[in-house]
Amino acid sequence: MNIVIGAGISGLSAGQVLEGEFVILEKAATPGGLAGQYRAGGFIFDHGGHYFHFQGKPGIREHVERFQRFREFRRDSKVFLRGRFIPYSLQYHLAHLPASLRGPILAEMIAASGAGGDNLEEFLLASFGKRFYRLFFFPFLQKFYGRPLGQLLPGMDKGSIPVPRLEEVLAGSRQRRRFAEGYNPVFYYPALSLQGFIESYSLPVLDRIRFHEKVIGIEPQKQRVFTNSGAYRYENLVSTMPLKELLGIISPPPPFPRQQLLHLSTLVVNAVLARRRRRFHWLYLPEKSFPFYRVGYYPAAGAVTVYLEKTVAGSAALDASQLFREVAYTLRRTGMIARPSEILFHDLKRIPVSYVVFDRNWPRLVPKVLALLRRQRIHSIGRYGSWDYSSMADDILMARETAGRINRT
Ligand SMILES: Cc1cc2nc3c(=O)[nH]c(=O)nc-3n(C[C@H](O)[C@H](O)[C@H](O)COP(=O)(O)OP(=O)(O)OC[C@H]3O[C@@H](n4cnc5c(N)ncnc54)[C@H](O)[C@@H]3O)c2cc1C
Repeated sequence: MNIVIGAGISGLSAGQVLEGEFVILEKAATPGGLAGQYRAGGFIFDHGGHYFHFQGKPGIREHVERFQRFREFRRDSKVFLRGRFIPYSLQYHLAHLPASLRGPILAEMIAASGAGGDNLEEFLLASFGKRFYRLFFFPFLQKFYGRPLGQLLPGMDKGSIPVPRLEEVLAGSRQRRRFAEGYNPVFYYPALSLQGFIESYSLPVLDRIRFHEKVIGIEPQKQRVFTNSGAYRYENLVSTMPLKELLGIISPPPPFPRQQLLHLSTLVVNAVLARRRRRFHWLYLPEKSFPFYRVGYYPAAGAVTVYLEKTVAGSAALDASQLFREVAYTLRRTGMIARPSEILFHDLKRIPVSYVVFDRNWPRLVPKVLALLRRQRIHSIGRYGSWDYSSMADDILMARETAGRINRT
């Protein structure tokens, strides 16, 4: 029998392809993982802004649309800087900056060598120049990562920091228009509801899912998995739980310093507003006065639901009234509310493992760990299983390919 750990989008996708006998062990009460929705105060929220990106993966779009139709959105995200709403990505839209900033930034960008760099800080300085770095990338990424950018590797984020060509920079510095450029300029969201999509996506494998069953131990040599309520023998194990946690429950422990695998934890504040005062999809907030790095509207119809995201220490205690003040400040300063009484409801969600941090240890450790596990018939996949930066569409593809390979062995 094959075993899948986790009924998130990756586990469900693997289950749809696996042949023969298998079970999906899921510690939660419902399928979907981070791609699902949850109910609070009579409202439905996502676990943070979750949109599908099908660029370069037409087969995945076709696949998911068998379960529900998806709506296409042309991305309208902005950077909120010095009281201005500037189209994202900022580097393509210099015309929106005050003239006193634009000239010197442009001169530095033209002079920028674009010659790589060993770490994220060097890469950004070489690609965009010092002034632009200080204006946007440094404050934004410092807030997001909470650690020196010189410790991080460039180029691991799958194009989320597009470097425009010189003619694109020049065009964007002359004309105030919105370029549909770079990183995921369109996105997709289920036309009816994300929850409805996840429910129909899980239907083909629903009878294979064992809910409330948490995997707490794995013995690769005996090919056994232990859960809070039993034990299973497996031929192949497909794991979608975070790699760092997986390594912690394998015995004997693999010879890797798993504490060197770094990640971020995110606090998502979901809120319901009295009305929609702004039209953008989401805003990036580089300025220090905002504790959140991103705020946005959910695309679902009905109540005006929004999310605010910030990086937090994994288990730090939260001060609820301070947090509400931060939410009200952010929403008011960005014009999403006129007064705090327009916040009708809010709810907090902590995501303990949200983003992998790519430091120097990553290339030294992760490929080796995954290869060792594969030799033991443990396929660690999905964004957190492969300890990488992937989208839901990437995860679906990875899961389907992995399950296909298992079927052929
Ligand atoms: C704030 C935020 C915003 C994001 N926005 C986007 C976006 O806009 N677009 C996009 O494409 N992607 C986005 N992502 C990424 C996306 O959420 C993930 O790529 C995707 O949901 C990962 O799916 P998964 O099934 O691999 O993992 P998960 O969703 O984490 O599923 C893993 C499952 O395993 C279960 N599990 C864990 N441990 C155990 C255990 N020991 N025993 C049994 N079960 C276990 C969990 O309960 C869970 O159901 C975002 C992520 C975050 C954090």
